[in-house]
Amino acid sequence: PHAHPTVRVRPLTCTETRRGDQQIVHSLGDGAVHVSAARHDATFGFSAVFDAGASQEAVFEGSGMRQLVELAIDGFSCTVFAFGQTGSGKTYTLMGPLAQSDTQPASPALLGLMQRSFTCLLEQSRSRGSDLALSASYLEIYNEQIRDLLSPGPPCALPLRWSKTRGFYVENQLSVEFESLEAIVSLLLQGSQRRRTSAHALNRHSSRSHALLTIHVRSRAHHPPTWVLQAGACLSKQGTLCFVDLAGSERVKETGSSGELSVEANSINRSLLALGHCISLLAKPRGKRTHIPYRDSKLTRLLARSLGGSGITLMVACISPSSHCLSETLSTLHYASRARRVTTRP
Ligand code: ADP
Ligand code: MG
Repeated sequence: PHAHPTVRVRPLTCTETRRGDQQIVHSLGDGAVHVSAARHDATFGFSAVFDAGASQEAVFEGSGMRQLVELAIDGFSCTVFAFGQTGSGKTYTLMGPLAQSDTQPASPALLGLMQRSFTCLLEQSRSRGSDLALSASYLEIYNEQIRDLLSPGPPCALPLRWSKTRGFYVENQLSVEFESLEAIVSLLLQGSQRRRTSAHALNRHSSRSHALLTIHVRSRAHHPPTWVLQAGACLSKQGTLCFVDLAGSERVKETGSSGELSVEANSINRSLLALGHCISLLAKPRGKRTHIPYRDSKLTRLLARSLGGSGITLMVACISPSSHCLSETLSTLHYASRARRVTTRP
C-alpha cells in the first residue's frame, strides 16, 4: 500500500481573529510544518503542506490528486481521506464552501477535490471515446451503522457482509450511473444534505458521521477481437476512487457533549482509533507486520481494500492555525505522522 500524508492549514476564521487568537502553525516549506506555542515547539514532516494561502487548485495539483484519478482509471483502489477536528476544513477541502449553502453556487475557483476529480475523470472518459462506465455510491457511518445517502426515504441501516470474492461489501447499496458533471454534483449535494449533523460547541453544522463517496470506474475494451470473447477473457478493469469525509476527531470532553452526543463522540473516537491502528500497522515493513485488525470498526472494514493490498491512499490532515486548537492540532499531526513511513510516490 502507498499512503501520502499531507497537511492543510486553513486561514484563521473571523471569530478566531476577533477573539485575538495567535497563529501557532507555520509551514516551513519542503513538507515541514512547525507548531509553536508557550510550552510546545514541534516540527513535523509530510509529503506536502498547504498553508492558509493555498488555493483549492493548488491543493488538487500539489497533493497528487490528479495522479490518483488516473490510477483509479487504470484499475487501482484509490482513497483520499480528510480528517481533523470539527471546523478544521475537511468538508471545505473535499467539496468547497458550496456544501454549506445550496442557494448560491460556489465560484469555480472554490470547488474542492471532489468536483475537480470528477471533471478530470469525465475529461479522461471523453478523450478515451467514452469507454469509461462511471457510477457512484454514497454511504455514511453513523454510530457504527451504515446508511445509504443516495436512497430516498428515511435512513435505514444496511448490513455489511464479507465474501471471499468481494471482500467486505455493503448489501443493497445503491450505485447510480452518471455521465455528466451536473449529474454527479447533484448526487453529491443530495447525499450531503442527508448526512447526520449535530450542533455542538465547536461548529453549528458539525458532521457526526463518516461519509464515503465511492466512484466506480469501469473501463470497457472498445472492440475486443472475437478470440478474446471466445476465451471468456475479461478485458474490463475496475478501479475505485473513494472520498472519505471523516467525522471530527475532537475528544468528548472538549466538545461539551453529553447523552446522545457523547454516544456519537465515542463511536467516532473508536473508529478513528481503529483506523489509526490499522494505518500504523500497515506502515511497518511487511516482514514485521502482524494481523491487521480491519474488523475493529465498520470504517476500517469498508476501507480494508484501499488501505491494504494494492490500494493507494491520500490523507489530508486538516488543521486550524489557532492557539485555541493546540492540543487537537498536535493530535491530528501525530495521527497523520503514523502514515509517514509508507510514503512513496505512485
Ligand atoms: P469541517 O468539515 O472540518 O468541520 P469545514 O470544512 O466546514 O470544517 O470548515 C469550517 C469553516 O472554515 C467553514 O466556514 C469553511 O468555509 C472555512 N474554511 C475551511 N477551510 C478553509 C480554507 N482553506 N479557506 C477558507 N475558508 C476555509
Ligand atoms: Mg465537515
